[in-house]
Amino acid sequence: MKLMEYQGKELFRRVGIPTPRGHFAKSADDVAAFVAANPGSWVLKSQVLMGGRGKAGGIKFADDPNQARAIASELLGKVLKSVQNPEGERVGSLLVEEKVAIESEAYVSITIDRAAKKPVVIVTAQGGMDVEEVAAHDPDAIAKLWIDAAAGFWPFVARRLAFAAKLPLGFHKTFPGVVGGLYSLFMDYGANLVEINPLVLSKDGAVIASDAKVDLDDNALYKHPELKDWKAEAPVDEDQAAAVAIGLGLSNYAKLDGNIGVIANGAGLGMGTMDAIRNAGGSAANFLDIGGGAQADLVKKSYNLVVSDPKVKSMFINIFGGITRGDQVARGIVEALAGGDIRKVPLVVRLTGTNEKEGRAILAAAGMNPVETMDEGAKTAVELARA
Ligand code: GDP
Ligand code: MN
Repeated sequence: MKLMEYQGKELFRRVGIPTPRGHFAKSADDVAAFVAANPGSWVLKSQVLMGGRGKAGGIKFADDPNQARAIASELLGKVLKSVQNPEGERVGSLLVEEKVAIESEAYVSITIDRAAKKPVVIVTAQGGMDVEEVAAHDPDAIAKLWIDAAAGFWPFVARRLAFAAKLPLGFHKTFPGVVGGLYSLFMDYGANLVEINPLVLSKDGAVIASDAKVDLDDNALYKHPELKDWKAEAPVDEDQAAAVAIGLGLSNYAKLDGNIGVIANGAGLGMGTMDAIRNAGGSAANFLDIGGGAQADLVKKSYNLVVSDPKVKSMFINIFGGITRGDQVARGIVEALAGGDIRKVPLVVRLTGTNEKEGRAILAAAGMNPVETMDEGAKTAVELARA
C-alpha cells in the first residue's frame, strides 16, 4: 500500500521524525480559512501517489488567504502528469504546510536490498527534485549502509553515513535520530520503502522531513489495523477497479493498444492468445482473464467490460475448459449478446475441453459457430477487426 504524503508524515510523527506544521484539506474554502487563521507563508502540496509533483506543477506557494484560495482551486481536480506517469493522476486533496526557508536538501531512504538480504539505508547530500540525475551522473555522491536486522539500528551507523554522504554539518546532530525513526517505521510497519526527499536543513538550523514517501507491504497490514481506512482511500487504477467491480482480481484486466478484445481463462492462455494474434498480424486491445470455473454471469460481465473499450473492433474468446465448463461460458456469451444495451462487435469463440459439446450446441442454437484452434481463431479475429 502506497501512502500519500500526509499519511506518510502521520507515521513520521509517530516515530519522532520532525515534519512541518500542516493542515490537510479537500476544498479551496478550507485552505483559505486555514491560511486566514494562520498568517504566514504556506506551501500547497497536491496529494497524489505519483512522484515528481514539483516538476509537474503540483507544489505551489501562497502568502495570503486569497492567493491560497486561487491556487487551491487551480490544483484541486487538476490531473498531474510526469515522465514516470504520463497518464496522470487527479488531485483530490492538498496538504498545506508551513514554508520552510531551505538551506540544504538531502535525501535518505530505507528499502530492502534483496541481494544482500538486508535493509539498506541510502543517503545523499544532493537531495531534491533532481535526485535521479545524481544517481545517474554522480553515483559516488550516494552513500549506502546495510543494517543487520539481528543487531538492529545503532546511532553510530548513521553518524558514519552522514560523513560518508558529506552531509553539511548542520544535519549531523539530528540525523541519527531521523534514520533511527525511519528504521523503526520500516520494521514496525513492514515497509517496502520509506523515503524522505528532501530532508531539509532550514536556514535556522532545524532538520525537517519536507516530503514523505512510504510504501507498506500489504501482508504486514495486520500489524496496524488502524490503517485499514487508508487502504480504502488509496486510488486503484481504472483497469483494476473495473476488474474488481465484476468480481475478478486486481490484475485480471489490462488495456493494451491494439483493436482486438481478448478473453481467456488463465493468464498463460491469455499470453498465448495475444501471441497468436500477433502472429496473425494483429494486436490485442485488451486482455481479460476470467480465471478458473467462471459461471455464465461472469462471462457476460466480462464480455460487457471488454466491449466497453471503444478501441475493440473484434473479440476473441479463447477457452480451454478444465474447471471452467464450456456450457457456462457459452451461456454467458449468449446472455451478453442478448442484452440490448451493449455495443456488439464481431466475435470469434474457441471452446475446447470440459463440456465442449454442450457449449458448442448452445452457441450453434444461437447461430454461432466456434472455431477449432487458437491460430484459426486469431486469424479470424484479425480479419474481422480489419473489415
Ligand atoms: P515532489 O516533487 O513530489 O518530490 O514534492 P516535494 O515535496 O519533494 O517538493 C518538491 C520541491 O518543492 C522540493 O524539492 C523543494 O525544492 C520545494 N519545496 C517543498 N516544500 C518547500 C518549502 O517548505 N520551502 C521551500 N523553499 N521549498 C519547498
Ligand atoms: Mn520529494
